[in-house]
Amino acid sequence: MNESLYTSVQYLKGIGPKKAKALQKVGIRTIEDLLYYFPRRYEDRTNLLPIASLKEHQTYTIKAKVLVKSQRQSLKRRGFNILEVVVGDDTGKIFCVWFNQPYLKDYFKIGQTLILYGKIERYAGRLQMNSPEFEIISEESDTKPQTGSQESLHTGRLVSVYTLPEGITQRSFRQIIKNTLDTYLSQLNDFLPYDIRAKNNLFNLAKSLINIHFPQSLEFQKEAYRRLSFEEFFIFQLPLALRKLRKKDRPGIAHQIEGELVEDFIANLPFQLTQAQKRVFGEIKSDMARPQPMQRLLQGDVSSGKTVVATLASLVAIQGGYQAVFMVPTEILARQHYEKINSQSRGKISIGLLTSSLSEKAKKMIYQETKEGRLQLVIGTHALLEKAVKFKNLGLVVIDEQHKFGVGQRALLPQKGNNPDVLIMTATPIPRTLAITLYGDLDISVIDELPYGRRPIKTLHFSFKQRQKAYEIVREQLKKGFQAYVIYPVIEESYDLDMMGLKSVYEELGQSELRGFNLGLIHGRLRQREQDEIMLRFKNKEIQCLVSTTVLEVGIDVPETTCMVIEYAERFGLSQLHQLRGRVGRAGFESYCILISDVLTPEARARIEAMLNYHDGFRIAEEDLRIRGPGEFFGSRQHGLSELKIANPLTQLQLLKKAKEEATRLVRFDPNLEMRQNVLLKEKLLQRFPEYERLIVVG
Ligand code: ADP
Ligand code: MG
Repeated sequence: MNESLYTSVQYLKGIGPKKAKALQKVGIRTIEDLLYYFPRRYEDRTNLLPIASLKEHQTYTIKAKVLVKSQRQSLKRRGFNILEVVVGDDTGKIFCVWFNQPYLKDYFKIGQTLILYGKIERYAGRLQMNSPEFEIISEESDTKPQTGSQESLHTGRLVSVYTLPEGITQRSFRQIIKNTLDTYLSQLNDFLPYDIRAKNNLFNLAKSLINIHFPQSLEFQKEAYRRLSFEEFFIFQLPLALRKLRKKDRPGIAHQIEGELVEDFIANLPFQLTQAQKRVFGEIKSDMARPQPMQRLLQGDVSSGKTVVATLASLVAIQGGYQAVFMVPTEILARQHYEKINSQSRGKISIGLLTSSLSEKAKKMIYQETKEGRLQLVIGTHALLEKAVKFKNLGLVVIDEQHKFGVGQRALLPQKGNNPDVLIMTATPIPRTLAITLYGDLDISVIDELPYGRRPIKTLHFSFKQRQKAYEIVREQLKKGFQAYVIYPVIEESYDLDMMGLKSVYEELGQSELRGFNLGLIHGRLRQREQDEIMLRFKNKEIQCLVSTTVLEVGIDVPETTCMVIEYAERFGLSQLHQLRGRVGRAGFESYCILISDVLTPEARARIEAMLNYHDGFRIAEEDLRIRGPGEFFGSRQHGLSELKIANPLTQLQLLKKAKEEATRLVRFDPNLEMRQNVLLKEKLLQRFPEYERLIVVG
C-alpha cells in the first residue's frame, strides 16, 4: 500500500548515485527515510526589515530589488571570483556578495525582486550581506509583485535547517524534500487509526510531514512535532503492550511464600532490612504467590541493597521446591555474589557458579547438577545462556545490572523454564514515571532508601596540577586501615591522547604518591583466575589500593573501601561515574570520590558538575538523560529507544503516557491487528519490528 515509500531515493528526480551515496551517510536510503529526516532546527525568516535599519553583525531577512550586478576576480587571491549585486528597497541600498559561484551571475536580472537572508558585515567601510540565501520572488519588475512567500522554501518564512552530509547544501536538500512531498503526499496513507488521531487532536500524516519540513507557522510546526512524536511513542509502545498482554495470559507458578528458609535467612543477616527493602520484597512475594508469571523491574540506587532482596526472592522459589538462577554481567561479580550468598545462607541451600572461564569438565558437572535439580541456585554470567544449560524446574530468573545485557539475551534465560517468574534489576535507575512508560511490559518496584548510617560520599574535583592533593587523601585513608581504588580509563598507552598505559600508572604510583603501600593492578584482559586472585587479595586487605579499569564498575562490594580516585574523569559517562562512586562508602565510613580532570568540553563539565552536586542516582540519571539525550543514554541495547528520531521521553512525558494508554487499549481490542482500521498500522509495525510477527503468532 505504502510500498512506494520503501523505494530507494536514487530514483528521485535530482538525485544521482553521488547524492544518493552522500544521503546514505546520514541514514537516508528510502523515500520514507527522507521524509522522516527531520530538521535540526528552524530559522525564523519571516520578519522582513527595511534596509535602512540593518546593523552590523546581525542576521536579517530583507526584500529588495536587483539594481546593479558585477563580477570580478579577487585582487588578492588568484582564481577567486566575486559577484557583487546591489539591491535596494524604499529605504536604501546594500551590497550582497557571493564568492566563487560565477553561475549565480546569470540567475539575477535587473529589476527582479528577491528575498535575501544573511549576516551583515562591514567591508571596506560599507555594510554588505555575505553569501546570503536567496529566493527570486518575481521575474519581472515591481508592477506585478508576488508576495506569495507561501511557496517560498528558503526565505521569508520559518526555514528548516538540517544536519547534512558534505556535498549537499541546505538549499538543495530543502528542494529535494519539497519535490518528494509533492510527488508522494497523495500516496501517503496515515497508519494511525482515525479514532486515535481524532481523540488526541493529532494532525494527519501528510499535514504533519509538510509542516515539520515547511511549517506554515510556529503553531503548525508544534502540532506536526506533537503528532510525529506521538507516532514514535505509539509504535514503540505497541510491542510492549502486546507482550504484557501475552505474558499475563500464560499460566505461571504460584510459589509458596511462607517458609522457614526465608525467615531463617533474614534472622541471620548482620543487618536489619530497610523499610524500602521490606516493602519491595513484599511486592515481589505477592507477585510470586500469584499463578501468573512475575515480570518485575527492581530499581534502586547504587548500594541500596538490591542483591539481598533478589536473594530472598530466590529463597522463596527454592523453599517451594523450585530452582532459581541469577545472571550478572561479569565474572568478578558472579563470584562475589556466589561467595556472599553462600556465606549468608550458611550452607542451607546448594549453590553453583557457572562462568565461561570454568574448565569444560567443571562446566559439564554444573550442567549435570542443574539438569538434575541438585543445584537449587545457579549464579553465573552469559555462560548461563548456553544451550547446554537446562533446569529441572526453574522457578525464578534474576537478571542483575540488566542494562549490560541486550533485549534478546534477557529473553533467553526465562525460556529455560516453564514461564518462571522474572526479576530484573537495574542500577541506572530512571525516574519512576518514565520507567513505567518505557518498560511498559514490566511492573516496577523501587528501593528509594539507603541502608541506615550511610553518608553522602564526599566528591571532589581536582585538576592535574592538583593531583598530589588527591593522593594525599588516599594516603590518609590507607594509613587509617581503609582501602582505595584508582580508576583509569585505558589499558594501553595512547600517543594520540597523550596518556600513559594502566601499568605505567600503577608503577608510577608505586614509586611516588603511594610508595610504601601495597598496590594491585586489575583489568578485563587479565585471565579470569588472575582477576579472582587479585580481588581475593584485595578483600583480604593484602592489597590496599587497587589500580583498575572500569571492570570494577558494576556491583563490586568491598565495604572497607573509602576512597576512589578517577583519573581523566572527563572520559567517563555520568551514569558510569556514579556507578563507580557507588563502590565506596558501602559500610558507613566517611568516604571520598575524587575526580581528576582538566575539563574540556561543555558536556564533560556538565557531567562533573552533576557529580559534585547530586548524590541521588535518580537525579543523576535525569541529568545524564538531559546531557546525552535519550538515544545515547539508553544505547542500542535497549529496545527501540535509541531509534527515537524526534520524540523525547523526558520533555514529552504526557504524550508518552497517552501513547501508552492508546497502545494498551488497542491491543486489548485487536491484539493481532486484524481489524480494517489497523491494517496499515500492522504493516508499519512489522516493517519497524519484524519480531512483532512472532508475538502475534505465538499468541
Ligand atoms: P546494590 O543495590 O548496588 O546491588 P548491594 O546489594 O551490593 O547494592 O548492597 C550494598 C551493600 O550494602 C552490601 O554490602 C550489602 O551487604 C549491604 N546492605 C544491604 N542491605 C543492607 C541493610 N539493610 N543494612 C545495611 N547494609 C545493607
Ligand atoms: Mg548490585
